[in-house]
Amino acid sequence: MSNRGEVYCARCGHDVEPVRPWRGFVWVKRAWYGGLVVLGLLLPVVLSEITLLLPLAMFYALAAGPIHMLAAERHSCSDCGAELRPAAK
Ligand SMILES: [Zn+2]
Repeated sequence: MSNRGEVYCARCGHDVEPVRPWRGFVWVKRAWYGGLVVLGLLLPVVLSEITLLLPLAMFYALAAGPIHMLAAERHSCSDCGAELRPAAK
């Protein structure tokens, strides 16, 4: 029997309370894309001050990897750490 909020873990063989990643990372990813659009619109300004603003823009672009990784995290088993699939309805 499955209690509310518990998900079956195939590796452990029983229902476990999943570790839920913070759902706000999806919105952080969307905000990053919004910032990228703003950065693209301000590109002439960035290129005019190339010594400071262009490296800052590059650091902004480097943030894409961790943000996308955190937004793509799925529920995992709290016992063994295996990635859990949503239950079929
Ligand atoms: Zn498990």
